[in-house]
Parts: sequence; structure tokens; C-alpha cells
Amino acid sequence: MPSIYLHIPFCKQACHYCNFHFSTSLKYKAEMVKAMLQELEVRQDYLIDKELDSIYFGGGTPSLLTEGELMLFFEQIEKRFTIKPGAEITLEANPDDLTKEKITALRRTPVNRLSIGVQSFFEEDLRFFNRAHNAREARICLEEACAAGFAGLTIDLIYGSPTTSDAHWEENLNITFGYDIPHVSCYALTVEERTALSHFIQTGKAPPVDEARAARQFGELVAAMQDHGYLQYEISNFARPGHFAAHNSSYWKGEPYLGLGPSAHSYNGESRQWNVANNAKYLRALQDLPGFTKPASLPTGLFEIEHLSPNDRYNEYVMTGLRTLWGVELFRLRQMGEDYERHFLRHIQSFIDTGQATQEGETVRLTDAGKFLADGIAAAVFVVT
Ligand code: SF4
Repeated sequence: MPSIYLHIPFCKQACHYCNFHFSTSLKYKAEMVKAMLQELEVRQDYLIDKELDSIYFGGGTPSLLTEGELMLFFEQIEKRFTIKPGAEITLEANPDDLTKEKITALRRTPVNRLSIGVQSFFEEDLRFFNRAHNAREARICLEEACAAGFAGLTIDLIYGSPTTSDAHWEENLNITFGYDIPHVSCYALTVEERTALSHFIQTGKAPPVDEARAARQFGELVAAMQDHGYLQYEISNFARPGHFAAHNSSYWKGEPYLGLGPSAHSYNGESRQWNVANNAKYLRALQDLPGFTKPASLPTGLFEIEHLSPNDRYNEYVMTGLRTLWGVELFRLRQMGEDYERHFLRHIQSFIDTGQATQEGETVRLTDAGKFLADGIAAAVFVVT
């Protein structure tokens, strides 16, 4: 079932590890909302099926949107699509934005799931990450969000930071369990190119990220989540039964989605496309259009497109399959061509032999030992084009 993703490309300040697209100047926020509504109009036919299973406000920092701005999006989406009853509508939010008043305002909108960027309950980590919130705000907003009665709630945590001792990581997990949150996403701190963190490590201002620490904390995470009744349905995502994220699950299952806003990706089963990751260029591409009128052709400079070859489809399928609970189904590979099944089985065998993957009937999954190495194992079974 299709979904819509909206990328809100603004943040109060730049987290040191982040390589997502955003601007710390909020000057053009109103123009951006208008341009994104314009893009919704222009690209509404991208999705053939007009019944939406999920809507996701990501970023950037969507909690910087006002209630009025959010409602503008919903009004325009509802004119062009049907939001299915019970559809999951998620908004990513940062703790420093989630005051009691903000949470009350969000409850008045169709948003029914909050994804809160907690990252850690320790000041030392939050300062190292350059987050805009402090540990106290992380706890207070969680208390308010739990009490507000959203249908869904998830938080993000980061492990493997040089500032996160094993004891602090255990404490981060215990605090999380104390809130009885139905869904938790946990990511290893990664050093992306052209980030402040990468610069600090290169210039000796920060210690390098220790892979062994990250692997140890990942092991502790997996065990603790199992003990507390969470299912690891994707490498980084843990949920109580019945609380899998519908939106992310639809990505992993290859469902179509329309991505709006600078840098947003879209997928329709045949191709992937991604919008220009530059606020000024994005605004220019859409602002020249007449207001809310569908032009004869799509604006130039808005996006790039890649048509997926059979090899691309195979690579994407094994990558997501190995990362998820659903695994890689051999019959799906046969549908792509028997050569793909043979290639996969030939290359996955060494990981089965070492206990990092397992085959049950027609399904191959990674074991706990293989999960931390998922990207490397996927790369080993890719078809190189
Ligand atoms: S708030 Fe999120 S998107 Fe913004 S800089 Fe931090 S991690 Fe990146």
C-alpha cells in the first residue's frame, strides 16, 4: 500500500554526526511549506493507488512545523488522496520542541505517532552529538508524550559513541524500558563524510569510533530487547508485537511511496527518484509554477531519476531481506530468475557455515551473530553491475 514521506529540511542546530539534508536558517520555512504543497499538486499522480496506509513527516526537524502548517499539509493531502482509517501518521520530533503545549497541539492534528530523537539520557553524549536538547528535556517530553495518548510512540537511541560507556548504554536501555515505549530504534554512531564528527576525528579533537565497543553494545541491545519482549524486526528497529512501524515496513517490503521536499526519495516499483538536496534550488524549481495548478510538465531541476535494472532489484531485495525479520525468500529470487537464486545460495553459504546466517526451508535470515555485520554480508551476496 502506498505512503507519503515529507522531508522538513530545517533544524535548530547541526548535530555533529548528521549528514541528512537540512538548513539551520528557518527564514524560508513558510515558503518551503508552500513549495512542498505545490510539489504535492504537481506529483499527485506519481502514486496510482490513492489510498494511503501511512504518512511520515521526517527531516530535518518536522516538530518545527506549527499546528497550522501541519494542517495545511493534511488539507491538501486529503483533497488528493484517501487516508485509510487507522493509517499510521508519524511525526519526527526533537525533545526541545516537545513542550506540553506542543504535544497538546499535535494531538489536535491527525498525527497519531511520535518518533522522538532522544539519542541518549546522558548530558555527556548529547553534548558530544551537539544535540539541541538536554537529558532533562528528554525525560520530560517522554513523560508528556506517554501521557498524551498517541496510538504509537517510538524513540531513537545512539550506541557506540566514545562518550557512551557500557554502563551508560545499559542505563539508557533501562530508562527506556521504564517508559514502556512500544517501539525503539537504535543506531550505531557512524562517521559520515563531510560531517563535523569526521572533521573532529581527523584533526584529533575527538577520539575515533571504536567498532568493538559498538559491537559489544549492539549485543547487549539485542539481548536486552529480547528479555523485555521486543521483536527485532529490522537490524535497528525493535517493537512489541503489533507495533511494527507501518511506514518503514512498507519501504522494506518494496511498496511505492511519494517523497516530497528537498532530498526526499520516491519509489514506484519501476524507478527511484530523489529531489534536489538544496533548499534554494528546490524552492526555485517550484516557485515559478502558478499556484496550485498542475503544469503540463514537471519542473526541471527538481529531481534525478534512476530506472532499476534486474540486478538493482535483486541487490535491493537481498539487502532489505537480510536486514529484516522476513528474511530473503528463495521463491522471490526464482521469480527474478534462477541465476539470481543460484548466485545468492552460492555466496550466502559461507555465512551459513559460520553461523552468521541460517536457512529454514525457503527462507534465509541472519542470526544474532550476523546481524551486526548485515551490510557486509549483503555486499558479499550482491550482483556487481
Ligand atoms: S536534528 Fe536530526 S536531522 Fe537535524 S541535525 Fe540533528 S540528527 Fe540531523
